[in-house]
Amino acid sequence: MSRKSNKAETRCIHAGNTVDQATGAVMPPIYTSSTFENAAFGEPREYVYSRGANPTRHALERCVAELESGVRGFAYGSGMAATAAVLDLLPANSHVVVPNELYGGTFRLLEDIRAHSAGIQTTFVDFSDPANVAAACRENTALVWFESPTNPLLSVIDIAAIAKVAHDNGALAGVDNTFATPLNQRPLELGCDIVMHSTTKYIGGHSDVIGGICAVASEDLAERLAGVSAITGGIAGPFDAYLALRGIKTLALRMERHQSNALAIATWLEKHPRVQRAIYPGLHSHPQHELAKRQMDTGFGAVVSFEIDGGREQVAAFMNQLEYFAIAEGLGGVESLVGHPYTMSHSRVPEDRKAELGLTDNLIRLSVGIEHVDDLIADLEQAFS
Ligand SMILES: *Cc1c(COP(=O)(O)O)cnc(C)c1O
Repeated sequence: MSRKSNKAETRCIHAGNTVDQATGAVMPPIYTSSTFENAAFGEPREYVYSRGANPTRHALERCVAELESGVRGFAYGSGMAATAAVLDLLPANSHVVVPNELYGGTFRLLEDIRAHSAGIQTTFVDFSDPANVAAACRENTALVWFESPTNPLLSVIDIAAIAKVAHDNGALAGVDNTFATPLNQRPLELGCDIVMHSTTKYIGGHSDVIGGICAVASEDLAERLAGVSAITGGIAGPFDAYLALRGIKTLALRMERHQSNALAIATWLEKHPRVQRAIYPGLHSHPQHELAKRQMDTGFGAVVSFEIDGGREQVAAFMNQLEYFAIAEGLGGVESLVGHPYTMSHSRVPEDRKAELGLTDNLIRLSVGIEHVDDLIADLEQAFS
């Protein structure tokens, strides 16, 4: 197909030309074969062995690469495997700069695993001012890695400004774009080298698959990451790749509802007498609302955080009282979820560090689903009372 729409809805369906070339199947089959017959001695076909490349996985990779304006994509068995593959691009004893507020798994990958196995040194700084990132860079800084919006406090980071700082210091710039989705925000267009998603979240969208994907901005990086992925082998299986690709087909539709629900709920929470503070990048009261509007072009995602008036006891009573919002880790599925970051996703973060971040015991995080917004608001209301 030669036409390339710039409309999210169309791109979700057609990006990557995922029609199966061998059969014309409009949805690519789940190619389970581990290996592929050579045409003859010394004449391998396009696919050789599924660790290196598999047609179903390749369809997903082409699709996400195009949605993210990258040259190539690489799909993994989880978001964490995707991030681990990125770290495998770095020489041993490299230095990495990340924000104070970082996905917990990434924190542990850097501090517990790669610090030990690869001598990776990590500096944590406040990314709200790019000068802090510049000041943290050293001779051996090889990667600046961050998320925007952050989890669970939903700070918005200036992606273009940070990418420039990384490049000025000879480092790669990479963004975990899971919360924003490729529809709202495309870091490669803003100057980054690598973008990563946990496809477990909005891309898969139905809470039925664990997966991850990276897209890269240059052929050189694509070659290097292809080499890493084929050898370390943390690749997505064909069935999981199929589920993620199936999810993308409805991503634009789902995000529309996710985001209109999230904005309505955040606006409602902000006025509720039992809410001390509502946090959502789409609210005018959000400190980086203007940046979010500039950087996120179709919406602000569907994670909403708020502080309830009260302590742990009030949090527990509220969460237990909810009927539609399930108490669970995770986000991005069609069903609404509620979490308590202090004791759930961030339970391993030391208390003084949580205090520094402003992550309080009365903070509740909602992953707003695509149910009818009236039902969700009624559920929140009855749980408050
Ligand atoms: C869930 C998540 C990850 C990790 O992805 P998995 O698929 O669970 O391995 C990384 N970053 C962010 C922002 C996430 O939400």
